Amino acid sequence: MIGLAIITTVDPLLRYARKKQNDIIALIREFVECESPTGHPAAVDRFVELFAERAGDLARTLTYSGGEFGNHLRCEFRLPGSRKDGTILALGHSDTVWPLGTLKTMPFRLARGRLWGPGVFDMKAGLAFFLFAMRALRELDVPVARTVVLQINSDEEVGSPSSRQLTLEAARRSAAVLVLEPGTGLEGKLKTARKGVGDYTVVVRGRASHAGVDFAAGANAILEMSRQIDRIAGFTRLKRGITVSPGVIHGGTRSNVIAAECSAGIDVRIPRQADQRYLERKFASLTPFDQRCSIEVTGGVNRPPMERSAGTRRLFRLARSLAAELGVDLQESSSGGGSDGNFTAAAGTPTLDGLGAVGEGAHAPGESILVHRIADRTALLAKLVARL
Ligand SMILES: [Zn+2]
Repeated sequence: MIGLAIITTVDPLLRYARKKQNDIIALIREFVECESPTGHPAAVDRFVELFAERAGDLARTLTYSGGEFGNHLRCEFRLPGSRKDGTILALGHSDTVWPLGTLKTMPFRLARGRLWGPGVFDMKAGLAFFLFAMRALRELDVPVARTVVLQINSDEEVGSPSSRQLTLEAARRSAAVLVLEPGTGLEGKLKTARKGVGDYTVVVRGRASHAGVDFAAGANAILEMSRQIDRIAGFTRLKRGITVSPGVIHGGTRSNVIAAECSAGIDVRIPRQADQRYLERKFASLTPFDQRCSIEVTGGVNRPPMERSAGTRRLFRLARSLAAELGVDLQESSSGGGSDGNFTAAAGTPTLDGLGAVGEGAHAPGESILVHRIADRTALLAKLVARL
């Protein structure tokens, strides 16, 4: 009889999330239909206002200027439990990569068991899940031992230049960070490691001349760059997870002019903090083949790697056991992409990333989330907050 009771008991937070699924979907719809591209601060501010309004009965909200970007939002939740010891930081972003008007060609819709639309997966659904997770804790009167703060940045998709400091300060004050970015794959694996991300700009300056009349006087910057590019691509160490990828190249003015200048934009990814020095050394070692050319290198790693620390491993083990109570076999993954979790992990705060929606197609027209994973992801967030 006891065994039967265990099997038929549904976790109360999961039961709540299932009951509220239509409301969660309606909120996701509202969020998706309020477009918020990074480069349009007024639109981002509209979304931030909408979010603050929807969180108004649950949290004390505060906005911070994002400078040239939209406002950043901080929500401190009012949750059950009389004593609060330490803080848990949940982290999200309001901006998307989709320009205003994308809804015309990519409207929000529910089809084939998924929700579709710009920013639904990255990461408006995750934000909606978190609000409902906090609502569940309040309505079911589940005591929470920590102060819970959600910070929503407005510039994540461009590397978080204006929110980075705010994120670091909040992380240093917190015992753990929960990042509401989407999970990995259609299983929704959490992210316990992310590569560090950076970019270098290499400029080669040569000497212009007429390609026919004065060929020998020219020092061809394109030619020089093409030899450098091969060298730079060779900095990749695939077995160590270090990748160096020339992604953009510009050079020359006309075909009958020997090119005086050529520039290249190069993406770099590193799994370990120590790899940053390896790249700095390599880029600093570039010298011209043609002595009449000069080489200028700028840039570097701007998001440090999120390494799988002991604290993050402990967080994942907790999440995995809580997910098992929901009937989910939760897995972990490493990502080549960065998030604000890179900053919080590098600040030394245990960080668990990828807790948002399960789906696919971030930054792509097929962006969508699985409807049947809405309830368990929402419940998992609530359980984590209650247990940390
Ligand atoms: Zn994102």
